[in-house]
This record gives sequence, C-alpha cells and structure tokens, in this order.
Amino acid sequence: MARPIVIGLEVHLQLNTKTKLFCSCSTDYIGRTPNTNVCPICLAVPGTLPLLNDSAVALASRMGIGLRCKIQNYSTFGRKNYFYADLAKAYQITQYELPVATGGYLEIEVNGETKVVRLHHLHLEEDAGKLVHPTTDGRLTGAAYSLVDYNRGGVPLTEVVSEPDMSSPAEAKEYVSRLRQLARYLDVSDGEMESGSLRVDANISLSKPDGSLGTRVEIKNMNSFKSIERALEYEISRQNKVLDSGGRIVQETRLWDDAEGVTRSMRNKETASDYRYYPEMDLAPVVIDDSEIEDFRRRMPELPWEKRERFAAFGLTKEEISILTEQRELARYYEDVVSAGAPPARAANWVRMEVLRVLNELGIDITGFKVKPGALAELVKKVEAKELSNTLGKEILDVLAREDISLADAVKRSGASAGRLTGASLDEIIKKIVSANPDVVETIKNGEDKKGGKIKFLQGLVMKEARGQADPKEAAESLAKNLDL
Ligand SMILES: [Zn+2]
Repeated sequence: MARPIVIGLEVHLQLNTKTKLFCSCSTDYIGRTPNTNVCPICLAVPGTLPLLNDSAVALASRMGIGLRCKIQNYSTFGRKNYFYADLAKAYQITQYELPVATGGYLEIEVNGETKVVRLHHLHLEEDAGKLVHPTTDGRLTGAAYSLVDYNRGGVPLTEVVSEPDMSSPAEAKEYVSRLRQLARYLDVSDGEMESGSLRVDANISLSKPDGSLGTRVEIKNMNSFKSIERALEYEISRQNKVLDSGGRIVQETRLWDDAEGVTRSMRNKETASDYRYYPEMDLAPVVIDDSEIEDFRRRMPELPWEKRERFAAFGLTKEEISILTEQRELARYYEDVVSAGAPPARAANWVRMEVLRVLNELGIDITGFKVKPGALAELVKKVEAKELSNTLGKEILDVLAREDISLADAVKRSGASAGRLTGASLDEIIKKIVSANPDVVETIKNGEDKKGGKIKFLQGLVMKEARGQADPKEAAESLAKNLDL
C-alpha cells in the first residue's frame, strides 16, 4: 500500500524594502560588484548596532494579514548561531520565540478541489551573503576554493512556515504559486525564484502503517517551480525504496541537484539546540499596537481571491478568471479595457487569447505592452460592430504591438475603409474577381460545380480582396446574384 505523503514548506520571501533590515545599505544588490553594497553594520564590525527597518515590519504584517494570520502586538528577535562564511556575524538575527504573525491559512486548488493549508507562523529575519564555488564543470561540489559576497547580507526576509498539510508534489507547487501571487498582489516581494527572492525549503516524510509521522527529510536548493515538483517526486520514490528494502530514513538535509535530477545528503538536520538561540539584546522588541494593525488592514490592496470574485460578476468562466487574475498587472489591464467600453466577455477573450499570444511572441510581459487598454477597447468595439473582421482585428493588434502607430493609422494602413465593405464597393470587388476568373465562372455556369468547390473558391477570393472587410454571408449572396445563380 502506498505510504501517505506529508509535506510542509518554509518559504523565504525577500521583502520589497529600499534598504536592508538593520542598516541603510540598498537592497538592490543584484549585478553589483561583490562586497560593495555593505557597511560596518551588515559586515558585523564590532561596536556597531542594528537599527530595525520599519518598512520591513509593515510589509511582513501586510503579508500576514493577507494570509489571515494573527498579527502579534509584541514580537522579538533572537540570534541563531551557526558558523558559515556567508554569515558575517556568525549568527543570524531572526525571530524565533515570538514571531510577528501566527496561525493563518492559504487556500489552494488542485484538480478542481479546494484545500486549506494551515500556517504555523510568519517571521522576519535577515538574509545571508552568498558563497560562490567556482567549479569548472558547473557542479555543486568539488571547487578548489570558495568566494564570498556580502552584498545580499542583511536584506530583509519574511519566512512563511506552513503546517505539514500538503500531500503531493502538485499541492506543494500550487501552494508556492498561490503564495507568490499573494506576495506580488500585495507588493510585498517580487517573488522571483530565478533571482532567489523566493526560496523554498521542503520537509517531507512518508507516514508509517499506523498513521504516525515518519522521519522527515529537509530538501533545499529547488530553484524553480518545476524543480519543487521534481525534487519532491524524486524524494518520495527514494524514501519508498529505502523503506521497501527494510531500511531506515535518516533525519537530514538534502540538496536537490537539478542537472542530475537527484537529492544528495548535505548534513544531518540541525535541531533547535544546535543553533543555541538566545535573545538579541541589541534590538528592542517589536511593538505593533491595535490601531497600527487596523491601519495596515485599511491599506491592504485588493487580494487575488477578491479580484476573482469580482471578475466572476463579469460572467467569465472559471478558467478565464484564473488566467486573467494570475498576474495583477494583467488583471488591471483587462479591467481598463472593460472600463474603456469593451464588452467584458469579448475583452476577456481578446486579452486571454490575442494579447497573451502577442506577449509570448515578443517575449515581454504586460507591463511592456505597447497597446494601451483604450486602443484595445476601440479595436474590440470595431470588431464587434463588424467594421473590422476578426482576422483584420488581430493583424492590427500585431501592428500596434510592434510599431509606434495610432489605431486610426493602423486601420487605414491595413486597407480597411472606415466602414464595412457593402453594396457598390462590394459589387466592384465581385465584378473584378468574376472577370479575372472566366474559366471558373464557366464551370459554375455549366452546372459542373457539383460539390460547390468552385463557388467557394470565388467566395474566398472575394473575401481576400476585401481584406476580410466584407460580411461572408453578404458576399456569398452578392456573388450568387452576380453569376445569376
Ligand atoms: Zn549595511
């Protein structure tokens, strides 16, 4: 019988503050010369004192409110001691005994089923520096020496610790995805896994036959959504094999090796006592009174599930809503198109199919999209009014997205006249096609076009000549009239 899977996640998010957690160094460290984004405080020069960044407390609280946690009036910092070269002080300042927020939950949906993942707490801590191991072949180990860069040291993090409520790799991936979406909606963090501003550690165990929890293993170094799923799947099969062969799971930390597709033992898992936590006496407790918490609540931006509910009122399908609300900026764009007068259902179709297609082709995201919501609304309205065919509308969108040109000019250049081709102008096109294809016309008139292929061919030529500007039904009727059919 398959052993039940138990997964809990610790997600670190770099907070969107301008400066580090305890000094005024910038948090904008990516791409800078190593060890230039530092000061005596984040380098832990003796005699310096940390000074808490209020913005980090505000952002962590906002995330906590978004996760329905209880924001604590009183929280404290401690020192987590461990010696590693990326940690200038040889201890990390982190919240341990009394974190800034406790409890809470996040809803996820996998295979159409909603599940509640409970949270244990959310706390604040400082990031470490970065070690660079220059291996010639890109492997994780085996470097002759290591280099250290403290530019990232002291950047504020919030760590969201879940209860072990997830029971498959797919649920774990979905949880991280929803958490990241929330962080982005709230402007708490950019949540980029590639740059390391969102990092995931997973605790995974397989339950025993009596239902009790098995030994848990911690997995680190999963740098993409794909690798979260792959690492957990690998680990489940590894643990099953060990147990099937009568072996024992060792409590340890394992590193995911993405290139090899395996987890490797890194070290035995530390327990709390290994870290010799003790209070950080250089920092006063963090006091947030109720009126301040109320203030945080009042300033909360719209949450993803609130937006989903609102979009449901537009009469959109569940799938459309999920695609349109995935990214806050895309949702805003869609709403602006609707506010500019495009019918909600049509606008949803255009944004979901055409805008996303163009963004994909151009390799950009909605923030870099040239077509303003007002212009797209006008375009959608023209297509709706049959002033433009669907095909021509899409072509015009392509032009607008790639060139600095107004909608009116793009329409003009496309060859479409101000209105739909009808009456005399349509007649003119039909006459031209008829006179240019005497053989085909002959065949039709002789009654030899049994399957209707020839007449369809002429209809196609008319539509092409009209650049899609004619109504197909009207064009077919006029053509038949012209041929005396
Ligand atoms: Zn500093």
